[in-house]
Amino acid sequence: MTDTANAPELEPEQEPFWRTKTLDEMTPQEWESLCDGCGRCCLIKLIDDVTDDLHFTDVACRLFEEQTCKCRDYSNRGKRVPDCVILTPELVDRLTWMPSTCAYRMIYEGKDLAWWHPLVCGDPKMVHEAVISVRGRTISEDDVTEDKLPDRIVDWIE
Ligand code: SF4
Ligand code: SF4
Repeated sequence: MTDTANAPELEPEQEPFWRTKTLDEMTPQEWESLCDGCGRCCLIKLIDDVTDDLHFTDVACRLFEEQTCKCRDYSNRGKRVPDCVILTPELVDRLTWMPSTCAYRMIYEGKDLAWWHPLVCGDPKMVHEAVISVRGRTISEDDVTEDKLPDRIVDWIE
């Protein structure tokens, strides 16, 4: 474990972009690089009729590739899956259903990126090794009937 409380302060020009820019100030490349590839946002979510609470299931969008956690048709995702929300700086404040670990949500909430984020640790595989990604833990929506979705609610995503 590192003791960040005693870490030397960096000069502003040395700070990485996600600490110095708001989401709407980022370049398209910076914006894209914020995604850690966890795949959590590609899981089907349910809203409790009574409490309005949001629950994640382990059921993934049919375009989700389980072993890589990538979209099979990223450039056409909006056309192929109308429910797929394409994040933009204008939308992010409304996306309270994003997982608490999502980099966009964390930056929006004024937090720093986590240690396992590729931009922090330099290793895109770390999101899988830290068991943040959903790799190997999902089932396709093609293999689950709608009435069984409540049985697929998981407690490992908040
Ligand atoms: S939850 Fe956020 S960080 Fe994870 S894949 Fe989705 S957009 Fe990227
Ligand atoms: S269309 Fe692609 S990016 Fe959108 S939810 Fe499905 S797998 Fe994820």
